[in-house]
Amino acid sequence: MNLILMGLPGAGKGTQAEKIVDKYGVPHISTGDMFRAAIKNSTRLGLQAKAFMDEGNLVPDEVTIGIVRERLSNEDCVNGFLLDGFPRTVAQAEALDEMLNELDRQLDHVLYIEVPKEDLFKRLTGRWICPACGTTYHELYNPPKVAGKCDKDGSELIQRDDDKPETVGKRLEVNLEQVKPLVDFYEEKGYLCKLDGNKEIQEVFEDIDTVLKGSHQ
Ligand SMILES: [Zn+2]
Repeated sequence: MNLILMGLPGAGKGTQAEKIVDKYGVPHISTGDMFRAAIKNSTRLGLQAKAFMDEGNLVPDEVTIGIVRERLSNEDCVNGFLLDGFPRTVAQAEALDEMLNELDRQLDHVLYIEVPKEDLFKRLTGRWICPACGTTYHELYNPPKVAGKCDKDGSELIQRDDDKPETVGKRLEVNLEQVKPLVDFYEEKGYLCKLDGNKEIQEVFEDIDTVLKGSHQ
């Protein structure tokens, strides 16, 4: 079962990844983890990636692709994998195609958890924190009893920079621009499976499960 999981920030990708891994036993391969492992093990590519990151530069495609290739050749991937955070560009997607060809495998599904931008915006900007005791709240999921005040000590709640509307708006914009061409690429190839990420977590997983079961019986 060779899978790619895609979704904008806030779409619930991490939660669904965990559920897929639990049920199907495929390794969850996220770009961040892969980089960290390659650097920790001081592989040739890991050291190259580190050099770029240390200088604040983006890791070039050929290095990233090399690290993915090494990871997918690991024994734990023989029965499949769940890629998360890769590919990020169409060039990377094409490289992945080639790589899988060489390994004599092919993709089964590209799972895209879709949530309208406005809803993601609400999810991502809803988080507030109490500067006194550190309790976190969420306007939608876990609101304080009195708007803007901590339940425990009445302190004025604040927002982290990452959760502020202007930061979130920019982040979503950048991610959306990046994801669009990839979605088109995989749609054209017939791998794309769109999932309604506005449903409850368990329902989204049941939808994923239906897709995965359908192709493996
Ligand atoms: Zn508090």
